Amino acid sequence: MHILIIGGGIAGISAAWRLRNSGCDVTIIEARSFLGGRLCSYADRATGTPFDNGPHLFLSSYRATRALLKDMGIAESFTFPWLNSIPFRDSSSKKIRLHFRPMPAPWNLAAGLLTFPLLSGEARRRTVLTAHKLLSEAINPSLSAEKWLDSFWQNEERRIFWDPLIHATLNTSARNVSIRDLQTVIKEGFCKGLLGGRLGYAQEPLGTVFNTEVGITLEDAGIKVITNAKVTGITTLNNRITGVILKDGQHLECNAAVIAVPPWSLGFLQTSLPSYNTLKSEYKLDKWQPNPISSLYLWSDKRPIFDAFTCLPGQTAEWLFDFARIWGNRQAPICLLLGNIPEDHLKLDEKNNQIERIIAECTRLFPELKTVRWKHRQFITENRATPLRPSELWGKALPQTTPLNNMFLAGDWLNHLPPTVEAAVRSGERAAGGVLKKK
Ligand SMILES: Cc1cc2nc3c(=O)[nH]c(=O)nc-3n(C[C@H](O)[C@H](O)[C@H](O)COP(=O)(O)OP(=O)(O)OC[C@H]3O[C@@H](n4cnc5c(N)ncnc54)[C@H](O)[C@@H]3O)c2cc1C
Repeated sequence: MHILIIGGGIAGISAAWRLRNSGCDVTIIEARSFLGGRLCSYADRATGTPFDNGPHLFLSSYRATRALLKDMGIAESFTFPWLNSIPFRDSSSKKIRLHFRPMPAPWNLAAGLLTFPLLSGEARRRTVLTAHKLLSEAINPSLSAEKWLDSFWQNEERRIFWDPLIHATLNTSARNVSIRDLQTVIKEGFCKGLLGGRLGYAQEPLGTVFNTEVGITLEDAGIKVITNAKVTGITTLNNRITGVILKDGQHLECNAAVIAVPPWSLGFLQTSLPSYNTLKSEYKLDKWQPNPISSLYLWSDKRPIFDAFTCLPGQTAEWLFDFARIWGNRQAPICLLLGNIPEDHLKLDEKNNQIERIIAECTRLFPELKTVRWKHRQFITENRATPLRPSELWGKALPQTTPLNNMFLAGDWLNHLPPTVEAAVRSGERAAGGVLKKK
């Protein structure tokens, strides 16, 4: 069996690995010059130092991802420290922590919230009750997180607890996601396991892990990787895919294929797949929206080192990530996560002034930064960071099959989980399973 995997993101990597482990001959075809897709780093033009396309958190409940990393021998590049608290800075620059008490989940989170000094007594009680409802009730997935929570939450806990949590874990605002997604985050992310969940991260730039290390591992395992090779069409016969056509006109044959790309990249099937319209309507391909994530990276010669991440509720940048701590490298930047602010919006509003204002806001919260001389900055927007599911598909599982018997879809948008690394890995495994069943 020669299988082609179109797309070298983590979904494609996961499918390739499973198929190779089952004895298939696998080739990954990637349009860009590197593997990893949305898990990537760039080199800063001025200093040559790397920075990620945006901070990525991995939850300890990412079962499939962690198993894949372990099997590929790259699990040591990640850490999942036991967090006994999440640091916060409030508008008066006070350091405050949301503690996870040493009790079985979910009591560890509940006890922490009930003593969380940033919330008033009433807001703490409402937050715990809301979290309890999310953990214990069957909920209607067709409601947005905002609609469902509107009846419980007040402005205070929304600004300080729920919005930063939703932005950090679902990468968008409460109105754009199903309440089911938030329920999954609370259940899987924070209340899974005896003491609840752990937040983890790569201890090296994402590009080093997902391009360099994974690339070497794949090639050592006999998986062929072709980069700078955009697929522009497929060839079919009797309801089966027989090969793909690359941008340079080359035709590569296959016995089966996994198309591991986001919904907005499936356009190449339009002219070459006779039943494209069936696929388009089944997956509502014209209704998915790309969701942007912006980050501001700041480099300086000397500065204090902070926690790996700190929540700044109600600020333009709601989270500060310290890559000096994350990578153990004092030259690495601070990253202010700006969420859904698109770069164009900043340009319209005089980008530089806005950036100065954001830096000033951050310095107000971290007086330790007052004497720091910022050497360099880099603003980055990933315009297509995550796919926003159309509301008619909220709570629905997508089949990953296509009108062709031997072609399956993979990607973070196809799993029942929110669009995350874990969703992508699981979808890759499922697509590989589909291929193997048809073998
Ligand atoms: C800034 C940012 C922050 C994020 N934070 C988190 C987080 O904290 N935690 C988390 O779990 N997730 C996070 N995510 C989401 C996570 O990165 C994605 O869910 C995951 O990487 C998606 O993997 P994928 O393989 O499905 O898609 P992709 O990574 O997009 O891979 C698809 C690949 O297909 C290639 N391709 C497309 N078209 C073609 C073609 N025609 N021919 C050949 N190749 C093609 C693309 O170049 C790409 O490499 C974040 C994403 C971003 C951008």
